[in-house]
Amino acid sequence: MYVNENTAILADFHCHTIASMHAYSTLRENIEAAKKKGLRLLAITDHAIGTADSPPLTYFENLTSLPSAIDGIQILRGVEANIMDYNGHLDMPAEVLRRLDFVIASFHTSCTVPGTVEDHTRAYIEIAKNPDVDMIGHSGTEEFRYDYEKVIPIFGKYGKAVEVNAHTFICRQKSVRNCIQIAQLCSRYGVPIMVNSDAHSEFEIGAVDKALNMLRQISFPEELIINTDEGRIQRYLTNLSANY
Ligand SMILES: [Zn+2]
Ligand SMILES: [Zn+2]
Repeated sequence: MYVNENTAILADFHCHTIASMHAYSTLRENIEAAKKKGLRLLAITDHAIGTADSPPLTYFENLTSLPSAIDGIQILRGVEANIMDYNGHLDMPAEVLRRLDFVIASFHTSCTVPGTVEDHTRAYIEIAKNPDVDMIGHSGTEEFRYDYEKVIPIFGKYGKAVEVNAHTFICRQKSVRNCIQIAQLCSRYGVPIMVNSDAHSEFEIGAVDKALNMLRQISFPEELIINTDEGRIQRYLTNLSANY
C-alpha cells in the first residue's frame, strides 16, 4: 500500500523543549500536544552539547530520571547529537548516549562547517556504523549533501532509520528536492524511514502533513514508514532495546 490521505503518524520521534533555548515549549506542553494529536509516543530529543544554546551534559546524564510514560504517552528519553566532523564524531560521550533511549545524529551548520560531498559521504558511512545511533536526522540538508545512492543502502544495512523531517518543508526549503531523492532511494532499497515533526514548540508536535504529502506524491510504500503503524513501532522499539 502506498502513502494515502489516511496515512497518519502514531509516534513522533523528534522534538525539542525549552531545554534547547531556541525552542519554546515545556516537556509537559509537548506531551499535552501529543495527546491532543492522538500520538501514543513522543521522543524528547533536545540538541546535544555542541550547539551553542543546548543544555549541558548533565541534562542528558539525568534524563533517565524522567518516567518512561507520562499521562499515557510513552516517552523516549533521547538526544539529537551533532555530527562534528567528517569522520562521524558526535558531540556526546558514548557512555551517555548508551544510557538514552533514542539517539538521532544530525549535521547542523551551527556546529560543523560544510565540506564536500565526499566529506559528508565519509561522515555518514561512519555514522551508519556507529551502534549508538538509532536514526539519521534530516539528512537532506542542502549544505551537507552526500552520495545518496551510495549511503542509503548502507543506512539500511546497519539498521538506521532515515528521517523525513517535516521541519525541512518549513525552514529548509532548499533541501526539499534532496528529501524527495532520499525517500525515493529508501523506497528502491527497502530502507525504513520515520516521518517526524522536529517540533520546536508544542504547536508543531505531530505536524507532518507536508512530509506525508510529498511521500504520497512519490507513491512511497507505507509499510516502510516505521511510525505510522503500531506493529511496526513495537517491533522497532523491541529491536532498539535489544541493542542495549
Ligand atoms: Zn536538527
Ligand atoms: Zn531537531
